[in-house]
Amino acid sequence: MNFPAFLNTVTTYAYTLPIAILYVTAGCNLKCVMCSYRDPLPGELTLDEIRKLASNLSRLGLRHIVYSGGEPLLRRDLTQICKAFQSLGVKQSLLTNGLLLEKRYEQLASFFEEIIVSIDGPTAALHNEIRGVEAFEHILRGIRSVIASPMRPIVSIRSVVQKKNFRVMSDMVELARSLHVDRISFLAADISSRAFNRENAGKIEHQPNIVLSKSETIEFRKLMEEFIARYGAEIRDGFIAENVQKLMHLAEYFEALSGTRPFPRNLCNAPMVSTVITSTGDVLPCYFLPPVGNIRTANIETLLNSNIMQQTRKSVRAYSLQRCQECVCTLYVSPTKAFMDAF
Ligand code: SF4
Ligand code: SF4
Repeated sequence: MNFPAFLNTVTTYAYTLPIAILYVTAGCNLKCVMCSYRDPLPGELTLDEIRKLASNLSRLGLRHIVYSGGEPLLRRDLTQICKAFQSLGVKQSLLTNGLLLEKRYEQLASFFEEIIVSIDGPTAALHNEIRGVEAFEHILRGIRSVIASPMRPIVSIRSVVQKKNFRVMSDMVELARSLHVDRISFLAADISSRAFNRENAGKIEHQPNIVLSKSETIEFRKLMEEFIARYGAEIRDGFIAENVQKLMHLAEYFEALSGTRPFPRNLCNAPMVSTVITSTGDVLPCYFLPPVGNIRTANIETLLNSNIMQQTRKSVRAYSLQRCQECVCTLYVSPTKAFMDAF
């Protein structure tokens, strides 16, 4: 095992940082019910600032950059950003809502090892209802154009499970199969953090269109058990990214929100192997925890090893933060894997 990687796992210090998630913009061209990102924030990082960040991250051992947002394909200079990370030998992934995929893929085709497209319904009516814009057909065209391209990247669908779509997870798998993507993953809708810029974060009563009722959680558990029985082969071969435990975690999460059980335990180690950098330069331990500083006022290495960041890692490891205990994240990146090839 890589020695700095090993030290990351047993101390609170980041000796190296294999994965970074970069919000290249907070602007978005969809209007999802579970998210309030709409317009870009004033003062987004410039291309020069991102180039400097890329070289600082590379010195820290960066292996994998994930572009997120907002909608990263709205950033006009994304090609130049990708070139900056490509020149440093960093693996690149794109998390996108897919609306601009068909239009922009050709310019960006050579950069990505994986493109993850968010789709929340197997039909135009449901996807568009959740995502707030008539986008479904454009997104499918975008996916098909990537799938048909030579030397294509891995293409995944990510679906955010919530009240409006918990009954159609099987249909989502069938959609993924019909599109010939490489895998599909399911993540519960986050309602507790401010990660998606929501004013009502943490107020369950203000999010009745996302959270399941008690009777729906009973129905969801049964559906999930049927889903797991039906898709055993797809779960084993990774076409469905989550294992059985993580799939049951989805049902347990909504049961916990409805007050019928404690939140399921997760083993997340995000702050030990990664960081999140927002479009205005804030540095976060993960998607859901508050910023520890900004790269415009401090060096990234200083921020990654500040007292507050180290204290956060200690608390995450001890599972003592309420935010962690209520988190939708089920990510555990094997440190060995993270440092060899990232996720
Ligand atoms: S969840 Fe993603 S696609 Fe939807 S509004 Fe937020 S940033 Fe845009
Ligand atoms: S479990 Fe904790 S550290 Fe992991 S993503 Fe959630 S809030 Fe962040």
